[in-house]
Amino acid sequence: MTQLISLIVPCYNESRSIDVFTATIMPFLESIPDTRWEIICIDDGSQDDTLQKITALTKQSPIFRAIELSRNFGKEAALTAGLDASRGDAVIPIDVDLQDPPELLAEMVEAWRKGAEVVVARRIDRTADSFLKRLSANAFYKFHNAISKIKIPENVGDFRLIDRSVVEALKQFPERQRFMKGLFSWVGFRTVTIDYVRPVRCAGDSKFSALSLWNLAMEGVTSFSTVPLRIWTYIGGIGAVLALLYGGLILTRTLIIGNPVPGYTSLFVAVTFFGSVQLISIGLLGEYIGRIYMETKCRPTYIIRRIYDSENKNTTEDHKPSKI
Ligand code: UDP
Ligand code: MG
Repeated sequence: MTQLISLIVPCYNESRSIDVFTATIMPFLESIPDTRWEIICIDDGSQDDTLQKITALTKQSPIFRAIELSRNFGKEAALTAGLDASRGDAVIPIDVDLQDPPELLAEMVEAWRKGAEVVVARRIDRTADSFLKRLSANAFYKFHNAISKIKIPENVGDFRLIDRSVVEALKQFPERQRFMKGLFSWVGFRTVTIDYVRPVRCAGDSKFSALSLWNLAMEGVTSFSTVPLRIWTYIGGIGAVLALLYGGLILTRTLIIGNPVPGYTSLFVAVTFFGSVQLISIGLLGEYIGRIYMETKCRPTYIIRRIYDSENKNTTEDHKPSKI
Protein backbone atom coordinates (compact mmCIF):
# COMPACT_ATOMS: atom_id res chain seq x y z
CA MET A 1 0.00 0.00 0.00
CA THR A 2 1.52 3.34 -0.98
CA GLN A 3 1.31 6.17 1.49
CA LEU A 4 1.24 9.87 0.73
CA ILE A 5 3.81 12.01 2.54
CA SER A 6 3.77 15.80 2.38
CA LEU A 7 6.94 17.86 2.52
CA ILE A 8 6.33 21.40 3.72
CA VAL A 9 8.91 23.82 2.43
CA PRO A 10 8.69 27.44 3.64
CA CYS A 11 10.53 29.77 1.25
CA TYR A 12 11.41 33.38 1.88
CA ASN A 13 13.71 34.96 -0.72
CA GLU A 14 15.12 31.54 -1.55
CA SER A 15 15.41 31.82 -5.31
CA ARG A 16 19.05 30.66 -5.12
CA SER A 17 18.29 27.56 -3.03
CA ILE A 18 15.20 26.14 -4.71
CA ASP A 19 16.82 24.47 -7.72
CA VAL A 20 19.59 22.90 -5.64
CA PHE A 21 16.96 21.75 -3.14
CA THR A 22 14.75 20.02 -5.69
CA ALA A 23 17.68 18.50 -7.59
CA THR A 24 19.12 17.11 -4.35
CA ILE A 25 15.95 15.89 -2.76
CA MET A 26 14.29 14.08 -5.68
CA PRO A 27 16.61 11.01 -5.75
CA PHE A 28 16.08 10.56 -2.00
CA LEU A 29 12.32 10.69 -2.39
CA GLU A 30 12.37 8.20 -5.26
CA SER A 31 14.50 5.79 -3.24
CA ILE A 32 11.90 5.44 -0.48
CA PRO A 33 9.55 2.53 -1.35
CA ASP A 34 5.73 2.51 -1.25
CA THR A 35 5.51 6.26 -0.97
CA ARG A 36 3.89 9.01 -2.99
CA TRP A 37 5.03 12.54 -2.27
CA GLU A 38 3.56 15.98 -2.37
CA ILE A 39 5.91 18.92 -1.97
CA ILE A 40 4.15 22.04 -0.73
CA CYS A 41 6.30 25.14 -1.22
CA ILE A 42 5.05 28.19 0.63
CA ASP A 43 6.16 31.52 -0.74
CA ASP A 44 6.24 33.66 2.38
CA GLY A 45 6.02 37.04 0.64
CA SER A 46 9.40 36.84 -1.10
CA GLN A 47 10.71 39.88 -2.94
CA ASP A 48 12.89 37.91 -5.35
CA ASP A 49 11.68 35.41 -7.98
CA THR A 50 11.04 32.58 -5.50
CA LEU A 51 7.38 32.50 -6.51
CA GLN A 52 8.15 32.14 -10.22
CA LYS A 53 10.56 29.32 -9.39
CA ILE A 54 8.07 27.35 -7.33
CA THR A 55 5.13 27.89 -9.67
CA ALA A 56 7.35 26.66 -12.52
CA LEU A 57 7.87 23.47 -10.48
CA THR A 58 4.12 22.94 -10.16
CA LYS A 59 3.92 22.95 -13.94
CA GLN A 60 6.75 20.47 -14.33
CA SER A 61 5.36 17.88 -11.96
CA PRO A 62 2.03 17.36 -10.19
CA ILE A 63 3.79 16.42 -6.95
CA PHE A 64 4.59 20.10 -6.41
CA ARG A 65 2.05 22.46 -4.93
CA ALA A 66 2.72 26.12 -4.28
CA ILE A 67 1.02 28.42 -1.81
CA GLU A 68 1.55 32.10 -2.19
CA LEU A 69 1.03 34.13 0.98
CA SER A 70 -0.07 37.72 0.59
CA ARG A 71 3.00 39.06 2.43
CA ASN A 72 5.82 37.89 4.70
CA PHE A 73 4.13 36.29 7.72
CA GLY A 74 7.23 34.54 9.12
CA LYS A 75 8.29 30.92 9.15
CA GLU A 76 5.84 29.83 11.86
CA ALA A 77 2.87 31.11 9.85
CA ALA A 78 4.24 29.65 6.60
CA LEU A 79 4.55 26.26 8.29
CA THR A 80 1.00 26.56 9.58
CA ALA A 81 -0.23 27.30 6.04
CA GLY A 82 1.60 24.19 4.83
CA LEU A 83 0.20 21.99 7.60
CA ASP A 84 -3.33 23.19 6.86
CA ALA A 85 -2.96 22.45 3.14
CA SER A 86 -1.22 19.09 3.55
CA ARG A 87 -3.00 15.89 2.60
CA GLY A 88 -0.32 13.34 3.46
CA ASP A 89 -0.56 10.44 5.89
CA ALA A 90 2.58 11.99 7.34
CA VAL A 91 3.97 15.51 7.05
CA ILE A 92 7.59 16.68 7.13
CA PRO A 93 8.46 20.38 7.44
CA ILE A 94 11.87 20.87 5.83
CA ASP A 95 13.98 23.98 5.14
CA VAL A 96 14.75 24.77 1.52
CA ASP A 97 18.43 25.58 2.25
CA LEU A 98 19.31 21.87 2.65
CA GLN A 99 20.26 22.41 6.30
CA ASP A 100 17.77 19.64 7.05
CA PRO A 101 19.56 16.74 5.37
CA PRO A 102 17.36 14.70 2.98
CA GLU A 103 19.49 11.64 3.86
CA LEU A 104 17.41 11.40 7.04
CA LEU A 105 14.09 11.10 5.24
CA ALA A 106 14.34 7.34 4.68
CA GLU A 107 15.15 6.74 8.35
CA MET A 108 12.30 8.99 9.45
CA VAL A 109 9.77 7.21 7.24
CA GLU A 110 11.01 3.84 8.47
CA ALA A 111 10.63 4.85 12.12
CA TRP A 112 7.12 6.14 11.35
CA ARG A 113 6.18 2.87 9.63
CA LYS A 114 7.38 1.02 12.71
CA GLY A 115 4.89 2.93 14.84
CA ALA A 116 6.34 6.32 15.77
CA GLU A 117 3.88 9.19 15.47
CA VAL A 118 6.57 11.85 15.64
CA VAL A 119 10.15 11.42 14.44
CA VAL A 120 12.31 14.36 15.45
CA ALA A 121 15.75 15.11 14.04
CA ARG A 122 18.19 16.34 16.68
CA ARG A 123 21.39 18.21 15.86
CA ILE A 124 24.32 16.63 17.63
CA ASP A 125 26.66 19.50 16.95
CA ARG A 126 26.06 23.12 16.10
CA THR A 127 29.48 23.98 14.71
CA ALA A 128 27.77 25.30 11.56
CA ASP A 129 26.39 28.12 13.74
CA SER A 130 28.30 31.10 15.08
CA PHE A 131 29.54 31.00 18.68
CA LEU A 132 26.99 33.61 19.73
CA LYS A 133 24.08 31.74 18.14
CA ARG A 134 25.11 28.52 19.87
CA LEU A 135 25.45 30.28 23.20
CA SER A 136 22.10 32.06 22.94
CA ALA A 137 20.29 28.94 21.68
CA ASN A 138 21.69 26.96 24.58
CA ALA A 139 20.67 29.63 27.09
CA PHE A 140 17.19 29.76 25.58
CA TYR A 141 16.58 26.00 25.86
CA LYS A 142 17.90 25.92 29.43
CA PHE A 143 15.79 28.90 30.51
CA HIS A 144 12.65 27.78 28.68
CA ASN A 145 12.78 24.24 30.02
CA ALA A 146 13.50 25.43 33.55
CA ILE A 147 10.34 27.51 33.71
CA SER A 148 7.89 25.65 31.45
CA LYS A 149 6.01 22.44 32.11
CA ILE A 150 6.30 21.66 28.39
CA LYS A 151 9.92 20.83 27.67
CA ILE A 152 11.32 21.53 24.22
CA PRO A 153 13.97 18.96 23.34
CA GLU A 154 17.32 20.75 22.95
CA ASN A 155 18.73 21.25 19.46
CA VAL A 156 15.59 20.06 17.74
CA GLY A 157 14.22 22.35 15.06
CA ASP A 158 11.10 22.13 12.95
CA PHE A 159 12.57 19.29 10.86
CA ARG A 160 10.57 16.25 11.91
CA LEU A 161 8.06 13.76 10.60
CA ILE A 162 4.59 14.02 12.06
CA ASP A 163 1.76 11.59 11.58
CA ARG A 164 -1.63 12.74 10.27
CA SER A 165 -3.13 12.37 13.76
CA VAL A 166 -0.58 14.91 15.06
CA VAL A 167 -1.32 17.29 12.19
CA GLU A 168 -5.03 17.12 12.98
CA ALA A 169 -4.25 17.82 16.66
CA LEU A 170 -2.16 20.85 15.68
CA LYS A 171 -4.87 22.16 13.36
CA GLN A 172 -7.22 22.39 16.34
CA PHE A 173 -5.09 25.06 18.00
CA PRO A 174 -6.92 28.35 17.83
CA GLU A 175 -3.89 30.44 18.81
CA ARG A 176 -2.61 32.90 16.24
CA GLN A 177 0.93 33.51 17.44
CA ARG A 178 2.45 30.13 16.89
CA PHE A 179 5.66 28.88 18.35
CA MET A 180 5.73 25.63 16.41
CA LYS A 181 8.55 23.93 18.33
CA GLY A 182 6.55 24.37 21.53
CA LEU A 183 3.26 23.29 19.97
CA PHE A 184 4.89 20.17 18.53
CA SER A 185 6.02 19.25 22.06
CA TRP A 186 2.71 20.21 23.63
CA VAL A 187 0.66 17.72 21.60
CA GLY A 188 2.82 14.81 22.75
CA PHE A 189 2.42 11.49 20.85
CA ARG A 190 4.90 8.63 20.53
CA THR A 191 8.21 10.24 19.62
CA VAL A 192 11.43 8.79 18.21
CA THR A 193 14.65 10.86 17.91
CA ILE A 194 17.25 10.65 15.14
CA ASP A 195 20.61 12.44 15.50
CA TYR A 196 22.29 14.35 12.71
CA VAL A 197 24.98 16.91 12.01
CA ARG A 198 23.56 20.13 10.63
CA PRO A 199 25.35 21.31 7.50
CA VAL A 200 25.78 24.94 6.47
CA ARG A 201 23.28 26.67 4.20
CA CYS A 202 23.51 25.61 0.52
CA ALA A 203 22.99 29.19 -0.75
CA GLY A 204 21.94 32.63 0.48
CA ASP A 205 21.88 33.89 4.05
CA SER A 206 19.91 33.06 7.18
CA LYS A 207 16.59 34.91 7.28
CA PHE A 208 16.69 35.27 11.05
CA SER A 209 18.39 38.32 12.53
CA ALA A 210 19.43 38.50 16.19
CA LEU A 211 16.31 40.58 16.85
CA SER A 212 13.92 38.13 15.19
CA LEU A 213 15.49 35.26 17.16
CA TRP A 214 15.01 37.28 20.37
CA ASN A 215 11.36 37.83 19.46
CA LEU A 216 10.94 34.13 18.74
CA ALA A 217 12.48 33.30 22.11
CA MET A 218 10.09 35.72 23.86
CA GLU A 219 7.21 34.11 21.97
CA GLY A 220 8.36 30.69 23.10
CA VAL A 221 8.69 31.64 26.75
CA THR A 222 5.48 33.64 27.01
CA SER A 223 3.41 31.04 25.12
CA PHE A 224 4.36 28.21 27.39
CA SER A 225 5.02 29.65 30.83
CA THR A 226 3.52 32.17 33.21
CA VAL A 227 6.47 31.92 35.60
CA PRO A 228 7.89 35.30 34.41
CA LEU A 229 4.57 36.87 35.46
CA ARG A 230 4.28 35.18 38.82
CA ILE A 231 7.90 35.55 39.87
CA TRP A 232 7.36 39.25 40.68
CA THR A 233 5.11 38.37 43.59
CA TYR A 234 8.01 36.54 45.18
CA ILE A 235 10.60 39.15 44.27
CA GLY A 236 8.27 41.80 45.72
CA GLY A 237 7.71 39.69 48.84
CA ILE A 238 11.44 39.18 49.44
CA GLY A 239 12.06 42.89 48.75
CA ALA A 240 9.39 43.85 51.32
CA VAL A 241 10.86 41.57 54.00
CA LEU A 242 14.38 42.93 53.36
CA ALA A 243 13.05 46.50 53.43
CA LEU A 244 11.31 45.82 56.77
CA LEU A 245 14.47 44.35 58.29
CA TYR A 246 16.53 47.25 57.01
CA GLY A 247 13.91 49.71 58.29
CA GLY A 248 14.06 48.04 61.73
CA LEU A 249 17.84 48.29 61.70
CA ILE A 250 17.86 51.99 60.81
CA LEU A 251 15.16 52.72 63.39
CA THR A 252 17.01 50.95 66.17
CA ARG A 253 20.27 52.61 65.20
CA THR A 254 18.62 56.05 65.13
CA LEU A 255 17.01 55.46 68.53
CA ILE A 256 20.25 54.31 70.12
CA ILE A 257 22.97 56.42 68.52
CA GLY A 258 20.91 59.12 66.82
CA ASN A 259 21.07 59.99 63.15
CA PRO A 260 24.58 61.24 62.42
CA VAL A 261 24.50 61.02 58.56
CA PRO A 262 21.46 61.48 56.29
CA GLY A 263 21.18 58.23 54.29
CA TYR A 264 21.56 59.77 50.86
CA THR A 265 23.37 56.85 49.22
CA SER A 266 21.13 54.07 50.52
CA LEU A 267 18.05 56.12 49.60
CA PHE A 268 19.31 56.78 46.10
CA VAL A 269 20.29 53.15 45.51
CA ALA A 270 16.96 51.89 46.85
CA VAL A 271 14.91 54.31 44.71
CA THR A 272 16.74 53.56 41.47
CA PHE A 273 16.92 49.83 42.13
CA PHE A 274 13.26 49.39 42.96
CA GLY A 275 12.30 51.77 40.16
CA SER A 276 14.10 49.57 37.63
CA VAL A 277 12.68 46.39 39.09
CA GLN A 278 9.19 47.83 38.77
CA LEU A 279 9.82 48.88 35.17
CA ILE A 280 11.05 45.39 34.28
CA SER A 281 7.98 43.81 35.80
CA ILE A 282 5.66 46.28 34.05
CA GLY A 283 7.49 45.58 30.79
CA LEU A 284 6.91 41.88 31.29
CA LEU A 285 3.25 42.47 31.99
CA GLY A 286 3.24 44.38 28.71
CA GLU A 287 4.68 41.38 26.85
CA TYR A 288 1.84 39.18 28.04
CA ILE A 289 -0.88 41.80 27.66
CA GLY A 290 0.36 42.54 24.12
CA ARG A 291 -0.02 38.89 23.28
CA ILE A 292 -3.47 38.67 24.85
CA TYR A 293 -4.42 41.73 22.78
CA MET A 294 -3.16 40.15 19.56
CA GLU A 295 -4.94 36.87 20.31
CA THR A 296 -8.27 38.56 21.09
CA LYS A 297 -8.30 40.15 17.66
CA CYS A 298 -8.59 36.63 16.20
CA ARG A 299 -6.87 37.63 13.01
CA PRO A 300 -5.92 34.75 10.74
CA THR A 301 -2.36 33.42 11.10
CA TYR A 302 -1.71 33.91 7.39
CA ILE A 303 -3.50 35.00 4.21
CA ILE A 304 -3.18 33.02 1.00
CA ARG A 305 -3.10 35.02 -2.21
CA ARG A 306 -3.18 32.00 -4.48
CA ILE A 307 -2.66 28.25 -4.55
CA TYR A 308 -0.88 26.73 -7.51
CA ASP A 309 -1.31 23.00 -8.07
CA SER A 310 -2.75 20.57 -10.57
CA GLU A 311 -6.26 21.42 -9.33
CA ASN A 312 -5.75 25.19 -9.50
CA LYS A 313 -4.14 25.67 -12.88
CA ASN A 314 -2.58 29.13 -12.96
CA THR A 315 -0.08 30.90 -15.07
CA THR A 316 3.03 32.43 -13.55
CA GLU A 317 1.71 35.88 -14.37
CA ASP A 318 -1.30 35.34 -12.13
CA HIS A 319 0.53 36.37 -9.01
CA LYS A 320 0.71 40.01 -10.03
CA PRO A 321 -1.12 42.06 -7.41
CA SER A 322 -3.23 43.82 -10.06
CA LYS A 323 -4.96 40.52 -10.83
CA ILE A 324 -6.16 39.80 -7.30
N1 UDP B 1 11.60 31.37 6.22
C1 UDP B 1 10.30 31.75 5.92
N2 UDP B 1 9.86 32.98 6.34
C2 UDP B 1 10.65 33.84 7.04
C3 UDP B 1 11.96 33.42 7.36
C4 UDP B 1 12.40 32.17 6.93
O1 UDP B 1 9.55 31.00 5.28
O2 UDP B 1 10.19 34.94 7.37
C5 UDP B 1 12.09 30.04 5.75
C6 UDP B 1 13.38 30.09 4.93
O3 UDP B 1 13.13 30.35 3.58
C7 UDP B 1 13.96 28.69 5.16
C8 UDP B 1 13.49 28.37 6.57
O4 UDP B 1 12.41 29.26 6.87
O5 UDP B 1 13.44 27.71 4.28
C9 UDP B 1 14.60 28.52 7.60
O6 UDP B 1 15.17 29.83 7.50
P1 UDP B 1 16.72 30.08 7.67
O7 UDP B 1 17.50 29.04 6.93
O8 UDP B 1 16.98 31.49 7.29
O9 UDP B 1 16.89 29.89 9.23
P2 UDP B 1 18.17 29.29 10.01
O10 UDP B 1 18.50 27.98 9.35
O11 UDP B 1 19.22 30.29 9.85
O12 UDP B 1 17.68 29.14 11.40
MG1 MG C 1 18.73 27.58 7.40
